[in-house]
Amino acid sequence: MLTLIEGARLVVTQDDRRTRIPGGFVLVRDRVIEAVGSGDPRGVERIERRIDARGKVVLPGLVNTHHHLPQTLTRNVPRVQEAPLFHWLTELYEVWRGTDAAAVDVAARVGLGELLLTGCTTTADHLYLFPRGQERLIDAEIAAARELGIRFQPTRGSMSRGQAQGGLPPDDVVQDEETILADSRRLIREHHDPRPGAMVRIALAPCSPFSVTDDLMRRTADLAREHGVRLHTHLAETLDEESYCQQLYGCRPVEYLRRRGWLGPDVWLAHCVHLSPEEVSLFGGTGTGVAHCPTSNFRLGSGIAPVRAMLDAHVPVGLGVDGSASNDTSNMLAEARQALLAHRIGADPSRWVTAEEALWMATRGGARCLGRDDIGSIEPGKCADIVLVDTRRLSYAGASSDLVAALVFSPFPAPVDTSMVDGRVVVESGELVGVDVPALVEKADAIAEGLLRRASERTGRNYFEKG
Ligand SMILES: [Zn+2]
Repeated sequence: MLTLIEGARLVVTQDDRRTRIPGGFVLVRDRVIEAVGSGDPRGVERIERRIDARGKVVLPGLVNTHHHLPQTLTRNVPRVQEAPLFHWLTELYEVWRGTDAAAVDVAARVGLGELLLTGCTTTADHLYLFPRGQERLIDAEIAAARELGIRFQPTRGSMSRGQAQGGLPPDDVVQDEETILADSRRLIREHHDPRPGAMVRIALAPCSPFSVTDDLMRRTADLAREHGVRLHTHLAETLDEESYCQQLYGCRPVEYLRRRGWLGPDVWLAHCVHLSPEEVSLFGGTGTGVAHCPTSNFRLGSGIAPVRAMLDAHVPVGLGVDGSASNDTSNMLAEARQALLAHRIGADPSRWVTAEEALWMATRGGARCLGRDDIGSIEPGKCADIVLVDTRRLSYAGASSDLVAALVFSPFPAPVDTSMVDGRVVVESGELVGVDVPALVEKADAIAEGLLRRASERTGRNYFEKG
C-alpha cells in the first residue's frame, strides 16, 4: 500500500545532516519509507492513502530505552512518594510480588498506549520480578504490544541474589540461575527477530548489582553474545549502590561491570547518574550506551547524570521514561523536556543541553542504544515509524520561530495527532485506534487497588497511606 503524508508544516528528518523540510511530504510503501521531500512526490503511481499534515510537524517516532511496564499499576503509592531508591524498592517488592499475567496485560496496555500518544513508536521494557508460578509475564507484554502496534524490545530481566545472599529483594521473588537462563533462551527462540524492521527483539537484563549474582552476570553476557542479542541493566543509579558495590565487590559499579565483560557496543545501561570522568570516557571508548531517565532520577532524589560529558565523549545516549512508580507517566516528549531542563542548574550556559540534543537523544540516540539503524529518522529505506504533532494549538501559538524547539520546550499537554508504526496507523486524531480507554482505566484501577490491598494484608502495613 502506498501512503502519502502531505503538506506538512515541517518535516524533521533527524537524518545525519538534520535536514528539515518546510512544506514537506513523506511517501510510505507498506512498512517502509520510500521518499521524503518538499512539495509533491513526482512520478508516483496511485496513492491509496493520504494523510493530511497541514499545520503539523512530522517527525520520526521517538524511542524509549528504559521502562518497567508493570509499574504502571503502582503510580504514586502513598508509602513511597518520598522514598529514595533502596527504601522505595523494598516497600514495592511487596506490592509487585502480587503481579500476574492479567495485571501485566493491563499495565502494558496503559503504558504502551501512553507512549504511543506521546510520540513514542519503539520502546524497551525491563521486567525482572517473576512471582512463583508467573513465568510468562513477558509473553503477556509482547502480546499487548503486538495488538497495540508498538515496536517492542522487552528485556528478560532477572534477580538471583535475595536477602539470604546479601541482596536487596526478598528470597521468594528471586529465581535460580538455571531457570533464568533457560527462560532467556526460550524467549529468544520464540520471540527474537534479528531482521531489519523487526517488531519484537529480545534483550537480556539482570536487574542490578545489588540483586543478581556474579555468576549470572557472566553467564548472561555469554548467552547474549552467543545469540547476538543485547545486554541491559541498571547501573550507578544511586550513591547507595556505589557503597554497596564498594562493600561487596571492593570496587565502583562501572568496574564491577567491566570485570564481568559488560562494557561494549551491545550494552546499554539505565541511569548512570554517578559516573566519574574516567568512566564516561570508558563508555565513549567502548560504545556502551546510556538510557538517561531524568524524571525518575529527580523523583527518587538519585542525582543528575553527567549527560553533557557523555555527549562530549560520544557515548550513545537515549532517553528513558523509566517505570511509572518513579515517573509517574510514560510521556516521551515530557521526558525530552525534562532532559532539556535537567542539566542547567549550576552548569555553564555553554554546556546546557539544547532542544535539538534532547530530541536527538529521543530519536537517534535511543535507536543506537537499542542497536537499531532502521528507526529513529525519516529517510528512504527506514521503517515507517512517523508521528505528526498538530501545532495549531494554544501551547504552540507564538512559538513558530523554532518549531522543533517548541516540541521540546512546551510542556506538551496534548497527544500527538497521528502515529504510524511499521506503516500502520495506531493513533488517529489524537486517539489510540481500537482502544476503549475508559474501560482500560477502570480495569487498571481495580487491579492496582487489589495489589495494594493484598500487600497491606500480607505485610500489616497500610499501602494506601503514607508510611
Ligand atoms: Zn529502571
